[in-house]
Amino acid sequence: VATRHIVVVGSSIAGVAAADAVRAAGFEGIVTLVGAEKHVPYDRPPLSKQLLDGRKSITDIALRPEGHYAERSVELRLGQAAVSLDPTVREVVLADGSHLRYDGCIVATGARARLPWPRPHAAGLHVLRSQDDACALQRDLERRPRVVVVGAGFIGLEVAASARTLGCAVTVVEMATTPLAGALPQEIGQRIVQLHEMEGVRVRCGAGVRSVKVGPAGVEGVLLTNGMTVPADVVVVGAGVVPEVEWLRSSGLSMDDGIACDRFCATDAPGVYAAGDVARWHNELFDERIRVEHWTNAVEQGRAAGMNLVADLDGRRDERMPFAPVPYFWSDQYGAKLQFAGRARPDDDLVELNDGPRGFVAIFTRGARLRGVFGINAPRQVALGRRLVAQGCDVEDAVAVLGGAQQLRGA
Ligand SMILES: Cc1cc2nc3c(=O)[nH]c(=O)nc-3n(C[C@H](O)[C@H](O)[C@H](O)COP(=O)(O)OP(=O)(O)OC[C@H]3O[C@@H](n4cnc5c(N)ncnc54)[C@H](O)[C@@H]3O)c2cc1C
Repeated sequence: VATRHIVVVGSSIAGVAAADAVRAAGFEGIVTLVGAEKHVPYDRPPLSKQLLDGRKSITDIALRPEGHYAERSVELRLGQAAVSLDPTVREVVLADGSHLRYDGCIVATGARARLPWPRPHAAGLHVLRSQDDACALQRDLERRPRVVVVGAGFIGLEVAASARTLGCAVTVVEMATTPLAGALPQEIGQRIVQLHEMEGVRVRCGAGVRSVKVGPAGVEGVLLTNGMTVPADVVVVGAGVVPEVEWLRSSGLSMDDGIACDRFCATDAPGVYAAGDVARWHNELFDERIRVEHWTNAVEQGRAAGMNLVADLDGRRDERMPFAPVPYFWSDQYGAKLQFAGRARPDDDLVELNDGPRGFVAIFTRGARLRGVFGINAPRQVALGRRLVAQGCDVEDAVAVLGGAQQLRGA
């Protein structure tokens, strides 16, 4: 029997978790992990936190210890982007022209930073997605410049916190009326603004950016849609991400703002699964097609895709498990841990359960059902809340378990 081959494309957390899972599931064929970046697989969350403010170095952020891949016979093909996938002949083609025939493939190519305007090539202008991006930004922050962060999403806010911790003057500019709009309701956005203002960061919400002003020496500031200019030596754009799917254009795989997958993380091509930031799949628990751009999902989905692919290749398709987690993310800002578990919509009802000088817990509900839990410095309640959402817990029970209620709005 010919040796079987699983190709994992994307050597970040979802791809590494998938390769590990394939081996843990007992697959004994060849496993190749292909990555466009030349670096050994590293962790992204520290790029905006400990790596940026100097608490960690590059060697601290490796995803796995040295020897991990060799021990599992996972062959690394780093510094090699995959340029196409042909499901009819089951082949992935790499930038150097090599063709990798696969029995099974897991696509974990993640996402890249979005730039709202054509990128002017200017000193001091940054996005933050990769280790190289982080190192370039870190070098610029050494001069303790005036920093403007465009976009008050999680990455933007973390960059603001790290730059402020380093002693930079920092302004955050956000088009929406509160930070994290779309992801979390206004009440929580306002709390996060307070956190930043207490540390001396200026947060300007409701301010659109028309362009980045560039002079002979690099960026000089950002021009707002109201005609005002905020001066800056460094501008960091945190305007969201786009799934990395262009290399799949000729593959015929169905797309849906990301790769369209079923509840098992399978794409519509035989033997091809997807995981992580690049995948949109049907999450049965919420009966929704979702794409999640967070670390824990990438780990859990990489694992699920790896296990399901091996079951599929072994002819045990009915043993595959639907991937139906409660999404979870965290963010660290000025030593505060912000966490959210669940699915929230801006029109969900919000009930504040605990509020103290150092911690905060609120739950999101729709009708009688618990939809999500948000906490600041409340890891125990968020972990518990995540389990309650998974169990389909109703609001009364959730309030009883998680603490006494003080209503903010709704219900
Ligand atoms: C600065 C930063 C901070 C973050 N902080 C948090 C946090 O605090 N909490 C949290 O929950 N989440 C956080 N995240 C999000 C989290 O890191 C991502 O959800 C996670 O990295 C997604 O993993 P992934 O493997 O799906 O994709 P990615 O991490 O995007 O990796 C995809 C990999 O595929 C490679 N690739 C792309 N195209 C190709 C190709 N054609 N061929 C070969 N390789 C290719 C890319 O180079 C990349 O290495 C953060 C992200 C960033 C950038």
